[in-house]
Amino acid sequence: MMENLTLKKIRSLLDERKISALELLDFYLKNIKEKNEELNVFLEVFEKDALEQAKLADQILEKGESAPLLGIPIAIKDNILIKGKTASAASKILQNYKAVYNATVVDKLTKQGAVFVGRTNMDEFAMGGSTENSAFGVTKNPHDTTRVSGGSSGGSAAAVAAEMVPASLGTDTGGSVRQPSSFCGVVGLKPTYGRVSRYGIIALGSSLDQVGPIAKTVEDVEILYDVIKGKDTNDQTTIDNKELDDTVKIIGVPKGILDSGVSEEVKNNFNKTITSLSDEGFNVVEVDLPHLKFALNAYYIIMPAEASANLARFDGMRYSVRAGNGEYKEIMSETRKLFGEEVKRRILIGTFVLSSGYVDAYYYKAVALRNKIKEEFNSAFENVDVILTPTAPETAFKIGEKSDPVTMYAADLFTVPANIAGSPALSVPSGISDSGLPFGVQIIAPHYGERKLFSLGKNIEKFR
Ligand code: GLN
Repeated sequence: MMENLTLKKIRSLLDERKISALELLDFYLKNIKEKNEELNVFLEVFEKDALEQAKLADQILEKGESAPLLGIPIAIKDNILIKGKTASAASKILQNYKAVYNATVVDKLTKQGAVFVGRTNMDEFAMGGSTENSAFGVTKNPHDTTRVSGGSSGGSAAAVAAEMVPASLGTDTGGSVRQPSSFCGVVGLKPTYGRVSRYGIIALGSSLDQVGPIAKTVEDVEILYDVIKGKDTNDQTTIDNKELDDTVKIIGVPKGILDSGVSEEVKNNFNKTITSLSDEGFNVVEVDLPHLKFALNAYYIIMPAEASANLARFDGMRYSVRAGNGEYKEIMSETRKLFGEEVKRRILIGTFVLSSGYVDAYYYKAVALRNKIKEEFNSAFENVDVILTPTAPETAFKIGEKSDPVTMYAADLFTVPANIAGSPALSVPSGISDSGLPFGVQIIAPHYGERKLFSLGKNIEKFR
């Protein structure tokens, strides 16, 4: 009876007292115990606390009270702070760091009476697209354990796919909620930049980062989104609850989107989705976004630039692990050696593109490109309600398959433009390949157009 439950279904089962929050938690904890050793989804399970929280939820439910997430088990990516718990961002440098305050999203979930099941694996500091950059081992794809779960929120996506929790939170700087959701066959949202507070999130690229929900259905993602969104005085980039309506009639497909780097099966699946949407009466048209193909270039300059500044604080003076002893310089350099290879690479790239003599040639050019891409999105949205692309150029790849960074970066082709433009984007499962791997399509909406994503997303998930 507990298999394949959606948040919506769980809500009614709990409210009608057909199951208790404790029974529900028990079901998921059992799955975690069975599967975590192999999949490496959770870095830590908060069993004792979760049991307490579930008990408390049952007491409240007993009184006939309810809230959308009351008693519902949730997993949290390891870069989101929960007071008193380790938040390591899957890095050796933070492996002993205990959060001293709650992220705003965690506060919001706590107020609802959600049950925090544990913290999930990720690429170190959210840098990557496969969780292979975690200092604590890769998270395997529940559909095929020889393959990656995607990244960087691979743990959060695999947790939902493997029924270890009904929903989770990830973060998305260049696709880290959407791409693993696509690889694992679940739904993932990157909200409009500024819709969800970044307070208490270990920052990667501050002008790109957003927290996003992952769940089995679009409706469930919407439920979570409604809980975590909103203005927060602790994050000055958050905005008031302004919203576009959910109308979607015209769908834009970027010209030449399938032209290069996209696998045959992804192309076929994407075309099939378009045909189904046309059959349903949607008007699918081509849109011209001539600079879209450079989004990846802009991203891989802006993101490392911001990351290099954000990661300067991990110096052995203030947080967690301190390596070496003696002079502060030695402590700093010894401590910073604990960063993994990809993190070091991005810090080096970031400091390079910001350094005097190069900042004009790289960073400012990337910013100009970003503005151009934003403009192109804005004019496209004058003619279409949403834009549709595949979520990723291929299905989940093999563990170890992409050994050079540039091949790995290419996997972010379709997801980074939404971060560059600040637009909301949703990945929705769109079928299963011959080899049993999930496909996903991505819907991008204008700023504050989340409802459009949900309404079209609900149509697409019906095709499955
Ligand atoms: N794969 C992208 C990167 O490595 C996205 C990361 C993210 O969204 N956190 O930068």
